[in-house]
Amino acid sequence: MKRPDCTPWPIYNAGAGSDTARMIRLARFVIAICAAVCASLCAAPATAQEGALSALAKLNANASEIAAAGDGLVVTLSLSQPVPWRVRVLNGPPRLLLDFREVDWSNLADLPVDSDAILGLRAGVFRPTWSRLVIDLPKPMVVARSEMATSDAGAQVAVTLRGATDGEFAAAAALPEPPEWALPRAADLPPPRLPLSQRTGPLIVVLDPGHGGLDPGAEQGSLSEANLMLTFARELKEVLLRTGEVEVVLTREQDIFVPLEERVSIARAAAGDVFISLHADALAEGAAKGATIYSLSAEATDEAAQTLAERHDRDDLLAGVDLTAQDDLIARVLIDMARLETTPRTGRLAQALESAIKAADIKMHRNAQQTAGFSVLKSPDIPSVLLELGFLSSDSDRANLTDPAWRARMADAMKTGVLAWAAAERARPPAP
Ligand SMILES: [Zn+2]
Repeated sequence: MKRPDCTPWPIYNAGAGSDTARMIRLARFVIAICAAVCASLCAAPATAQEGALSALAKLNANASEIAAAGDGLVVTLSLSQPVPWRVRVLNGPPRLLLDFREVDWSNLADLPVDSDAILGLRAGVFRPTWSRLVIDLPKPMVVARSEMATSDAGAQVAVTLRGATDGEFAAAAALPEPPEWALPRAADLPPPRLPLSQRTGPLIVVLDPGHGGLDPGAEQGSLSEANLMLTFARELKEVLLRTGEVEVVLTREQDIFVPLEERVSIARAAAGDVFISLHADALAEGAAKGATIYSLSAEATDEAAQTLAERHDRDDLLAGVDLTAQDDLIARVLIDMARLETTPRTGRLAQALESAIKAADIKMHRNAQQTAGFSVLKSPDIPSVLLELGFLSSDSDRANLTDPAWRARMADAMKTGVLAWAAAERARPPAP
């Protein structure tokens, strides 16, 4: 069965089986969606299509292909079953995004790719129940045709791109996301609770395991920063919960991609008292080793700090997230005012963590505290730090990070630091 062609924008629905009646119903549904979309150029509500159809489809790499075609590209993907999907292009750099609900990409490496036709390819879980394939395009192209054909054997996705002028491409890349797809903006969420000095109740700690999903972060052999940090975040959560004084929220509980801005939104929605992002990056410079605590500043302390900040933002960009919205979020005067109050609280947090980590005899980087423009630290009113627990590029750090006993020591030190900071904040006289 062939699906009608559509604008390259809506979330296409697809049947979950070969039942004829259901397929006809779905075909009507898709035609209705396409008609609505072609008229309004905006997507059909995702909510109407969610639910029973969600399932994990497998990529049949041998029956799939990415190949040059004239001045464009043809992407053919064979899936074990039909799933809802959508396709779009984004700029800066030009790339094609294919979102599926949901595809297991574990055999992506076997996909035959005409390596002259594209610059790069990556895939993984993008957000809960959605996975994303990102193809870096060598030049501006737009979607000329896109369809999913279904049969008893599964589903065949065919997307044809043709070369486009810069203007044409910019227009296609600028199509707004449908509201149903948008994530909550930090600025739209309720303000956090009162500072600790002005209230009682449990301390709410937001832990942010860096990277995840299609962004593994640093990799060293079979180790990924994303998985190591998720493991450590879970361990630290347990240690904090055992105190009975703390509630803990994780920005991700699984190996999924969470955009930087959404991490900030989660902290805010949880009314977090403190936000701690956990990383263990690799640095080519080789000299980097030992734990480092970063706080936000427009001015990076050194070149390595700048590289890390750029890399983290770049990971988001490559995964297909547009960070431009961050700027209007951070430009507002009120936010600057909030930050005036938050900055010293963040400074005291970084100091408490450094003291506790050193007291536990854990080796820190020679500059234990640094500053950088990490987007994830831009919560205006929640004290936020980014802790590089160590560097995956350092042999000794890697040995520590993979040692449960070392991680337990680090988790205990962080608990001590956070609790000491919270106690001191509670005892401070409220700001005038
Ligand atoms: Zn990282």
